Amino acid sequence: MNFGNWDNSIHEYCEQIKRIAFMQRIKPENVYVDFEQKTAEIIGSRGTYNTTLNSCTCYDFETRQLPCKHIYRLAFELGFLDDLPKINRKASKAFKDNIQNEIERYKEYYLNGAISIEKFNKIVNALQSK
Ligand SMILES: [Zn+2]
Repeated sequence: MNFGNWDNSIHEYCEQIKRIAFMQRIKPENVYVDFEQKTAEIIGSRGTYNTTLNSCTCYDFETRQLPCKHIYRLAFELGFLDDLPKINRKASKAFKDNIQNEIERYKEYYLNGAISIEKFNKIVNALQSK
């Protein structure tokens, strides 16, 4: 994933991974891409945002100065996200085979008072979800 002036490592921050997921929920009919200029107008809940690979007029970008979901959506439309990780069967099976161990690990945190019962249950639900 290499686009705009961003260092590649930024896209692996947890807050950025959330935005990459949110980008996938933007409806195609709300995205107008200018492929020559590498810009987009994206309709959001609070109006239309003007997006480039380096900037966006939305609140999220203006406050964080890091790629927002609109920038990721533009990058996706331009083919810069083709190397996003995809689920592969072998790695997925290895993960599933280890879920019980992970649950036991977090159960220790819970039993030691390191995490709340709510957090423990959220983690278990996430580990057991599809
Ligand atoms: Zn934005």
